[in-house]
Amino acid sequence: MNNKKQLKIERIQNIKFGCESLNWLKDKTKRFSIIRVSIQLLFLMLIFYVSIVGVWKGILLLIIFFATVFLGRLFCGWVCPMGLYMDIMTLLRRLLRISHWSLPESLNGVLHKTRYIIALVIIALALPGLATSYTALHDVSKFLWLQPPFTVYAFLLEPLQPLVLPWRPPFGALAEISGFYLTFPYVGEIFLYLKDTGFALLLSYIFIVIVLGISFKVRRFWCRFCPTGISLAAINRFNRFKNIPFLRLSKKEEKCTKCGICKRVCPVQVTEVYESNKDIYSTMCTLCLRCVEMCPESDCLSLKLNGKTICKSRNWLESA
Ligand code: SF4
Ligand code: SF4
Ligand code: SF4
Repeated sequence: MNNKKQLKIERIQNIKFGCESLNWLKDKTKRFSIIRVSIQLLFLMLIFYVSIVGVWKGILLLIIFFATVFLGRLFCGWVCPMGLYMDIMTLLRRLLRISHWSLPESLNGVLHKTRYIIALVIIALALPGLATSYTALHDVSKFLWLQPPFTVYAFLLEPLQPLVLPWRPPFGALAEISGFYLTFPYVGEIFLYLKDTGFALLLSYIFIVIVLGISFKVRRFWCRFCPTGISLAAINRFNRFKNIPFLRLSKKEEKCTKCGICKRVCPVQVTEVYESNKDIYSTMCTLCLRCVEMCPESDCLSLKLNGKTICKSRNWLESA
């Protein structure tokens, strides 16, 4: 590596990521981020429309499940509205030129494992309803565990919740403004399970303040232990199934200079891209492509669909 390039890499390593310029149009290191946020917004509108039309949630869950089995956690990186809400907090933080907090790697790993426990608890909550619905096995639509209050599958779809609904949500809303009802992911569940306590509204606001407040400093905070994220990735984590997704990140070890930028910019602090020497199989990776757009080595990182390169890293340092 020549001296000029080494100096540039050192300069990049010293940048406090999260305080970067918001001048996206001129910044080649934001090329995927711009497209991703645009697509997230489009999906938010589509999900709002689907909420109005009314689609059986089981269908949505099946679509997300199979999309994830074959495309990895693309849903988390490019579709999920709750992910978008957290990304907006990150954008706001950058706008204010405030740096982010990175969680210690050990804590991040523990939170990652905690997601499995949360997913198991959700399944356990569904079991009593499953037992009482045994007599209705001949009619799947009458399964109690598929209906409130045993909405285990609906709980997994909570991250899809739009912020505004044109009708009163079944279990309650945060507020009503001119016939529109404000809500947030998991607020419906909080109202459902705590409606008799009188604390549902207060706890809903506390939940929102905690999630968005921490997401302001810790990127994609809720994604670290989101039960939906874990359920989406649960199958692909087994060795036998890890090659099923057509879409995956790939790395050319010989091109990697171990600059560490990919590790620093990852919103969910995946370390495998830095450590791996070939394909990346992490179930934490949301395929957001932030590491690909920020990797300063040409063709070092790439996104591949069935082995074919869709996009790859570029040596943006040369023009920096
Ligand atoms: S982990 Fe959960 S909140 Fe985060 S993007 Fe995936 S589904 Fe959405
Ligand atoms: S993969 Fe790219 S960004 Fe990550 S350490 Fe290697 S050269 Fe740096
Ligand atoms: S490893 Fe790369 S693509 Fe995956 S979540 Fe982190 S930055 Fe995004």
